[in-house]
Amino acid sequence: MPTQLLVATTNAGKLRDFRVAAAAYAGAFCIDFLPDIDTIPAAPEEGATFAANACGKAIYYSYIAPGCIILADDSGLEVDALQGAPGIRSARYAADAGFRPDLPADAANNLLLLETMRDAPADFRAARYRCVLAAAMDGSILASAEGKVEGEILREPRGVGGFGYDPLFYLPTFHQTMAELDLETKHTISHRGHALRALLALLGNL
Ligand code: IMP
Repeated sequence: MPTQLLVATTNAGKLRDFRVAAAAYAGAFCIDFLPDIDTIPAAPEEGATFAANACGKAIYYSYIAPGCIILADDSGLEVDALQGAPGIRSARYAADAGFRPDLPADAANNLLLLETMRDAPADFRAARYRCVLAAAMDGSILASAEGKVEGEILREPRGVGGFGYDPLFYLPTFHQTMAELDLETKHTISHRGHALRALLALLGNL
């Protein structure tokens, strides 16, 4: 009987990401939504690091479902030329700056990143996605793992897949942005895929 893992996210895209990335472990683990998460007040995200936020969220939601293993992640984009920004503020990058509140968050974030990086030369456009994934049960962390993927910030968006900063995140090895990659390749190489596989390996050894 596979061990059930409940992902604490309201983001259907993230659940799909996790399921695809975990396909190789299908006999050992099954991954589902934490039920009724939309009715639970959101976990505070006040940590200074991806790890602190992921662990805080996993512990918070573990009190909602006693005896269950809860997975929570925190992820974001780090741009070297911006000293690692937007980092843990990736989801709220434009909102923090009061930039284009008329646009949906992803569109405003991408526009602000394009403007901020407009004059950065080719050699100074390195960036990475980072993800920390934590598993908790009954108020304690069972394991946590990190994944990252290196890329570059483009000068204009390319591709329609993915979400967030994907149309601007270029992978030189594939000559494609994250928004152009097919889903299977994305999950093989993505920060979330790496973090999930590392976490499942740790959980499998407990
Ligand atoms: P959180 O992990 O839900 O707090 O939000 C992470 C934010 O980082 C997202 O809203 C996106 O802006 C960005 N992000 C994280 N992972 C990805 C990804 O795989 N593709 C595109 N953007 C991402």
